[in-house]
Amino acid sequence: MARILITGGAGFIGSHLCDALLKLGHEVICMDNLLTGNSDNIAHLMGHPQFKFINYDVCNYIYIEGDLDAVLHFASPASPKDYLEFPIHTLKVGAFGTHKALGLAKTKAARFLLASTSEVYGDPLVNPQSEEYWGNVNPISPRGVYDEAKRFAEAITMAYHRYHGLDTRIVRIFNTFGPRMRPDDGRAVSNFIVQALRGVPLTVYGDGSQTRSFCYIDDMVSGIIKVLLKEADRTIEQRTNRDSFLYKNEELCTTKSIHDPINLGNPHELPVLDVARMVLELTGSQSRMEYKPLPADDPRVRRPDITKAKELLGWTPQVTMEEALQRTIDYFRKKLSLTGA
Ligand code: UDP
Repeated sequence: MARILITGGAGFIGSHLCDALLKLGHEVICMDNLLTGNSDNIAHLMGHPQFKFINYDVCNYIYIEGDLDAVLHFASPASPKDYLEFPIHTLKVGAFGTHKALGLAKTKAARFLLASTSEVYGDPLVNPQSEEYWGNVNPISPRGVYDEAKRFAEAITMAYHRYHGLDTRIVRIFNTFGPRMRPDDGRAVSNFIVQALRGVPLTVYGDGSQTRSFCYIDDMVSGIIKVLLKEADRTIEQRTNRDSFLYKNEELCTTKSIHDPINLGNPHELPVLDVARMVLELTGSQSRMEYKPLPADDPRVRRPDITKAKELLGWTPQVTMEEALQRTIDYFRKKLSLTGA
């Protein structure tokens, strides 16, 4: 049994990770300042003997009593709507929050896992995106606050790995959806489902031809846990030797290492308009489409190359888009009828 801290543990992905790790028999400390997370997501865990919630902003010095085996850093606004509303918070949690979480992991000699994002690829000039692609990010666009915060977070994580020999992992999470997304989260799938269920127009940005690849939450959680539990590289000492990491050495620079970023997402790519159509069909809604302006620097395409995750972890997503949408529709139907919204 391990003792694990999850920052952002009351968020969408964070709360599912709390559930999964408790189910595996671990002790979970969930830390969240509830800026975009929600205590409803972890209400069912309150009173669980292996679970503890701490309401705290991880941009400040983090103190945890006792040992820790792992720190999972998931705290951050993650929806474009949220990071446009909280641009400074987003930059701070990606920079200061990641620094504090790394410092804690170092003090406790704990494994560290960073939740990064497909946004590090920006509006990509290659499709699909493999981990070797460096991205095409506009640092001063409104989206830049999230993209650059996560790029900094990756850089400081690799620096702690190389300079301090910390056992770190970085997952680049592509679009993910499922139960516990907020109805007002602002993302495509949640917006379309909520709009369809309310019988109001589905807001398609641009002409809807931009593509995304959507992954169901259960698949994402299983991928993250595989990355977390994978044993450290035998080359970790060599990789963290300060004299040698400065030089390009085939062995040290291999991107096949568990300590280098790993894409997690569903490679099934489709235009956003097709998602809206599928939602209309599965809900039986009579809503129409309403076309709205495309947000600034909205990526034209996005699809993960998951070869590395397949080869290193034996992981591939299992849940089809139809099944994933159906489960999420069921969740929102219940949620909206409960809240009378
Ligand atoms: N989108 C849309 N209608 C909405 C919300 C989003 O057409 O109501 C589009 C958005 O412009 C983007 C895609 O759907 O092209 C996915 O957006 P989301 O916010 O889910 O995530 P992103 O991949 O942009 O981070």
